[in-house]
Amino acid sequence: MIETADAIVIGGGIQGASLAFHLAEKGLRPLVIERSTLASGATGRSSGLVRMHYDLEPEARLAWASFAYFRDWRERVGGECGFTRTGFLQLYPRDAAARLRSNVEMQQRVGISTMLVSADDVARLAPAFRTDDFDEAAYEPESGYADPSGSTAALLAAARERGGRLVQGCEMTAIRVECGRVAAVDTTRGSFSAPVVVDAAGAWARGVAALVGLDVPVTVWRHDTAFIRRPRALRLGHPTVIDDGNAMYFRPEGRDLTLIGLEDDAGIGGEPEEVLRPADEFVGRVVDRICRRIPAMADGELQSTQRGQDGITPDQRPILCAAGPDGFYLDCGFSGTGFKTAPAVGACMAELIVGGRATTVDISAFGLERFSEGRLLAGSHEDRPMWR
Ligand SMILES: Cc1cc2nc3c(=O)[nH]c(=O)nc-3n(C[C@H](O)[C@H](O)[C@H](O)COP(=O)(O)OP(=O)(O)OC[C@H]3O[C@@H](n4cnc5c(N)ncnc54)[C@H](O)[C@@H]3O)c2cc1C
Repeated sequence: MIETADAIVIGGGIQGASLAFHLAEKGLRPLVIERSTLASGATGRSSGLVRMHYDLEPEARLAWASFAYFRDWRERVGGECGFTRTGFLQLYPRDAAARLRSNVEMQQRVGISTMLVSADDVARLAPAFRTDDFDEAAYEPESGYADPSGSTAALLAAARERGGRLVQGCEMTAIRVECGRVAAVDTTRGSFSAPVVVDAAGAWARGVAALVGLDVPVTVWRHDTAFIRRPRALRLGHPTVIDDGNAMYFRPEGRDLTLIGLEDDAGIGGEPEEVLRPADEFVGRVVDRICRRIPAMADGELQSTQRGQDGITPDQRPILCAAGPDGFYLDCGFSGTGFKTAPAVGACMAELIVGGRATTVDISAFGLERFSEGRLLAGSHEDRPMWR
């Protein structure tokens, strides 16, 4: 006998888990199908930054609405998300000062806890940083990072407590459509029926959408990160930072590590099945870059490197909408920044699926048609894409 659910979510990453949690909160019985194990995709490799500094208002709103979950996780979801408040600094080079101010103004209008601070303030917050290449920075005192795998597990556990299900080691291979509406999926572990199917398949999202005849512009994006053990002089740690001038972000990890990623180091294209191994030259580049901002890191020690992958769209913004046959939804294309927004995205997608419209945040800007209509999303002061 074919098993049934109210909604089938393809993908057990942070997005699939968040959507399952919010659907279950609304009284539905969602089923999450995961080809490998929970958080084995982008989510398990994610750097986990939780910050609100976006240049596009709907994304800033999603990040801000999500922040309330990370801050109040135990009451809102249950379990642990590992949120660690470190403060967040967004550094831009001098010639991008107008962009910085305009972004902060928009974020303050949204209600985000952010402010402009001077280079002297940054030197007080992070005494080991070089501060001679900018005059101002944006500072979010409440931001930091969280644990992506732990957050996913907590959302899924909360979904299961409310009637949701997870099937792991189960690859979805076909979507059955009857009379213009999704009816069931076939998997390596049998068939499951539901009137709703959601593509939350990360780097695999294009292949999943193709099963209902949709051509979704999600390509594979690969990203390397390094963990460096800080020298004793830096044991006190530092804030979480996006350093635009050095095309780099970094944050503390635990007591004495620093996690670093480079924004101009992304590999785009190819297949999601490729082996995920950091590029040979990556370590040299990362050490050079972090020492430009924190010279004392020259005495640090490499702990490890890793590579992860996500689905990226042409404007590096997600696709959140109904598309194709009735009952089919896209919840994908997070373009390397979809951890911190996942709680609110899950709430919005559940509202869209159950009530026809998202109310937590207006997500109408993230429709699929923007690509065919040539209306790519861009922040009002964006001068280049994040990943380059
Ligand atoms: C190295 C790295 C660092 C990052 N850092 C940050 C950060 O600091 N902050 C931030 O906000 N974001 C960050 N991101 C982005 C963020 O992690 C992702 O956007 C987010 O995890 C995407 O979640 P997801 O659930 O959509 O995808 P995934 O976690 O990739 O989940 C998709 C799942 O779908 C499954 N699947 C695929 N096809 C099928 C199928 N046919 N049947 C069944 N299951 C299937 C896969 O196995 C996978 O587990 C980073 C990403 C990477 C890779």
